[in-house]
Parts: sequence; structure tokens; C-alpha cells
Amino acid sequence: MEYSYDYLIVGAGLFGAVFANEATKRNKKVLIIDKRNHVGGNLYCENIEGINVHKYGAHIFHTSNKETWDYINQFVEFNRYTNAPIANYKGKLFNLPFNMNTFYQLWGVTTPEEAKNKIDEQREPYLNLKPKNLEEQALHLAGKDIYETLIKEYTEKQWGRPANQIPAFIINRLPFRFTFDNNYFSDLYQGIPIGGYNKLFDNLLKDAEVLTNVDYFENKMLFDELAEKVLYTGKIDTFFNYKLGILDYRSLHFETSIHNTPNYQGNAVVNYTDKETPYTRIIEHKHFEFGNQDKTVITKEFPHEFSKDNEPYYPINNQDNNLLYSSYRYLADSLSHKFLFGGRLADYKYYDMDDTIEAALKLSNTEFNGQILYSEKLQVEI
Ligand code: FAD
Ligand code: UDP
Repeated sequence: MEYSYDYLIVGAGLFGAVFANEATKRNKKVLIIDKRNHVGGNLYCENIEGINVHKYGAHIFHTSNKETWDYINQFVEFNRYTNAPIANYKGKLFNLPFNMNTFYQLWGVTTPEEAKNKIDEQREPYLNLKPKNLEEQALHLAGKDIYETLIKEYTEKQWGRPANQIPAFIINRLPFRFTFDNNYFSDLYQGIPIGGYNKLFDNLLKDAEVLTNVDYFENKMLFDELAEKVLYTGKIDTFFNYKLGILDYRSLHFETSIHNTPNYQGNAVVNYTDKETPYTRIIEHKHFEFGNQDKTVITKEFPHEFSKDNEPYYPINNQDNNLLYSSYRYLADSLSHKFLFGGRLADYKYYDMDDTIEAALKLSNTEFNGQILYSEKLQVEI
């Protein structure tokens, strides 16, 4: 059968775009489609008042993997932005991640030894706990004050359920240190693309054909006939028409507003850790790129229940959902080799951007194993 394309890629997010780039580098013909009206997936930025506004939540690139860092830097240069969020609990400000500044703000302790003693005292009642959920994990690790001021209410807002019904591993993402270091990430490399994430996608997709505002499922048979292989990066339960059940997600909605001031909150990210404030955080986008525009744009992030009509943001990786995902994965693996799956929605995993790139490169390596790059082929022919 004659195909118009070697690959049809469903989803022009980071996974699809990295795979598309690897394919076109090998002179494969690629069509990439997205149901949104733009490429970039959740990294997409909209320019408002000269500011790159992260439309689907703040995205800060960070990795400790030098290969991944070198890979992404081929397409775009990064600035020196370092994430150092502030927490606002009932009007009082704290530095994150938990570090000497936070301990001073909480208890007035000024040395690491005093801080350690204070935390030991706080953890003491919970030391014998074998943490089975996030609440127990947080109390076991940090004790009562930190849990109640900075974790419990934020987490319950974020996940929409009591902290003792949330898996413990989520809190492993919060680092803990005894230096005056407000850098949220412990990674070797971090930053924001200079000029925004859209530039990254322009470069990744420069040799692919792109169609936006196109939903694969509106014409699946026709799309499948267009290409020898199909890489699907959407939700895996949707691909199988939910026949085994619906995978649960946590969704968000964003309220973005323009303000007539050059500086609204003095930081890109301020978390509201109390339960009375309905949003979890306010993002002031210009600070990601050290903008000095006259106006500013802020986004309030409200977590809410997921339904088929809103965006799936965070997978809820509890036992039931993980089991359901494994059954879908089994179905996916039993399909013909025509279909490939990948990305945060098809893999039902919380992937950071570096994980997404690594997963896409891994799939490309398997797919194109032994096939030389087009640029190398040209050199051989010349
Ligand atoms: P996506 O970006 O979701 O792309 C999938 C694409 O497929 C979408 O554009 C969608 O429209 C399209 N699609 C789905 N179904 C169809 C269909 N039927 N037809 C056509 N198109 C379809 N990572 C970090 O490293 N740092 C951060 O600071 C960070 N912040 C985050 C904040 C939030 C709120 C969230 C939710 C995630 C964050 N991440 C962050 C993770 C990051 O967003 C992911 O690693 C990345 O977006 C994954 O890319 P992807 O291509 O797998 O998925
Ligand atoms: N978290 C918290 N207080 C905060 C920020 C985060 O308790 O001020 C918890 C919360 O459970 C959240 C998890 O840490 O789901 C991970 O948060 P992070 O901001 O690192 O991840 P993101 O929501 O950006 O993916």
C-alpha cells in the first residue's frame, strides 16, 4: 500500500515534536496533527502585552541530565531563571523549598543545628509511623508546623481530597535543606527558553507538516490510512473508546488578567497554602524572562475535578488507576506495530519536560535503530 507519510503523529506537544524532529532528521515524511489551535501542547505561550504567558500552567525547564540539556539547547537558548517560589499562608510569607529561610520564618531559628533540633522535636510524635499516605509522610518527614502551614491545605485544594487519601510519593517532590538556598530544584541545569517555548517548537517542527484544529478521532480511519505508522500521544483510554473504564485526572482552570503596574507580586510564583484562598498559586509571567514592560499579566490557578469536557492535567496515579492503565497498556502492546504510544497522556505518567524528552528519544532510538541521520547520509553521498 502506498502511504502519503511515513509517520502520522497525533499531538504536537513536546513528545510528538521531539519524535517528529528525530524522524524528519532521518528524512522521514511526517504529518503532525493537534486538536488545539496551536502546537506546543502544554508548553504553549500566548503573547499578551509583549509578555510570554504560559497558557497551560507555568513551565520551568530543569534537568540533571547533561545529554538532555545539550539536546534541548540545540533548538533554543535558555536564560538564567531560577525557580524560587514564595508561599503565602494567611498573609504571612515563607520561602520555598523548605530551607533555612523557611525555618527562620516559622520558628526564628538561625543556625542549621537549631533548625534540625526544632524539626526533630516536631517529628518526634510521628517517627514510628510507617507512612501510608501523604499526610503521614509529611508528618513523618517534617512534623506538624510545616505540614499545617505549608502542605496540608495546599495539597487538599490541589488534589480535591483529604491528605490521608493521597499517595505519599507526591510529597517526595518537595526538597528539604539546611542552607539558605531558595532554589526550588536541585538539578544542575534550569531556565526558560529565551523568547519563549514557542520558538522551541518552531525549530523542532521545521521539517514536518503541521495541521492544527484537527481531532484524530473525528476521522481516525482516514488518518490511519495516510501513514505507514501512527504515533499517538493523546489519552490512552480515549484511544480505546474508554472500553475498560475512565482514567482519572485532576484538572485546572486558569484566570488570566492584565494589570496596569510593572510589578504585581515581585516573584514569578506565589503559592497560597491556606484553604480559604480558592486558587493554589498566582503566576506573574514576566518574571520568568526578567521582563520590564509597563504592564504585567498574572494567572490564578484553580484546581478542579476532571470530566471528559476539560483538560486532563495531573494523572491520579493511585492503585486503581494504575491497574486500569496497565490493562490499557496491554491492549496497546497487542496492537499491530503500526501504532506507537508515548507522552504523559498515553503513558498516564507525571512526566516533567526532561522525562518527556528522554522518553521520546528512547522511542526514536528503538524505532530508528541503525538508521543513519539524513545529514550523515548526505555527507556519505558527497
Ligand atoms: P502534551 O503537552 O499534553 O501534548 C499532547 C498533545 O496531544 C496536546 O497538545 C493535545 O491537544 C494533543 N491531542 C490529544 N488528543 C488529541 C487528538 N485526539 N487529536 C489531536 N490532538 C490530540 N514540566 C517541567 O519540566 N517543568 C514544569 O515547570 C512543569 N510544569 C507543569 C505545570 C502543569 C500545570 C502541568 C500539567 C505540567 C507541567 N509540566 C512541567 C509537565 C509538562 O507539561 C509535560 O512534561 C509535557 O507537556 C508533556 O508533553 P506531551 O507531549 O507528553 O503532552
Ligand atoms: N505542595 C505543597 N505546598 C506547596 C507546594 C507544593 O504542599 O506550597 C505539594 C502539593 O501536594 C503538590 C506537590 O507538593 O501537589 C508538588 O508540588 P509542585 O509545585 O512541586 O508540583 P506541580 O504542582 O508544579 O506539578
